Amino acid sequence: MKMPKEIKTVCPFCKTHSLQKVSVVKRKERGTLKAGQRRYLKIVKGYRGFPRPSADAVKQTKKVDIRLECKECGKKHVKTRTTRAKKFELKR
Ligand SMILES: [Zn+2]
Repeated sequence: MKMPKEIKTVCPFCKTHSLQKVSVVKRKERGTLKAGQRRYLKIVKGYRGFPRPSADAVKQTKKVDIRLECKECGKKHVKTRTTRAKKFELKR
């Protein structure tokens, strides 16, 4: 998925459309994972489940965490309604 570096959308603080800078946040991996994530990782590695887990079980896409920074007020907010993407890049 390609996305422009600057988009014009509604700023929740100014309550009008304004030019906003797009940035992607990379999540850090934490030491302890939640139970569901641990179970999922086991299946991906090939433990548990018969027959072998299908390719569908392995998630091939990731949700992209996009932040928008308003150029007028300088405040940041999270872009909701993002789609899953295999590859994500910002273009000019
Ligand atoms: Zn604003």
